[in-house]
Amino acid sequence: MPYSLSKLDIAIVNSLQEDGRKSFRQISRELKISTPTIKFHYQRLVNIGLIKSISPIIDTNKLDYDSKLKIEKCHCETKVPNVNLSTDVSVKMICDYCDGPIGVKPSIFKFAKIERFFCCTSCKSLYKEKYKGRIESLIRKS
Ligand SMILES: [Zn+2]
Repeated sequence: MPYSLSKLDIAIVNSLQEDGRKSFRQISRELKISTPTIKFHYQRLVNIGLIKSISPIIDTNKLDYDSKLKIEKCHCETKVPNVNLSTDVSVKMICDYCDGPIGVKPSIFKFAKIERFFCCTSCKSLYKEKYKGRIESLIRKS
């Protein structure tokens, strides 16, 4: 499809890059946008796969490398830079079933809070069939 980021999407990502533990309410106050709208956009960024996870940033200075557990130093010292996003950047989307690229018209399947994107209707049907049990239990839980 490629998904085009809106200014709000970018504001949410930037806000979470500052502090991933922020609540939706905090972001809502910060950006002066309603909490449900923030939640909706956040969920979509997760669904399209841009936000992979919210993870802690480790202060490597706190690690004692001389301790008995030998930690490989090289990896820990790489600092993960914040990603600068702009509305010119679009997010590449791949089919959730066959991993192929998604064209202009994606097939979208929504259930519970989740959205899955497919390159064609047959991938969508095959996905539904494959994950039938999981999908049904997620719908029941929501
Ligand atoms: Zn596909």
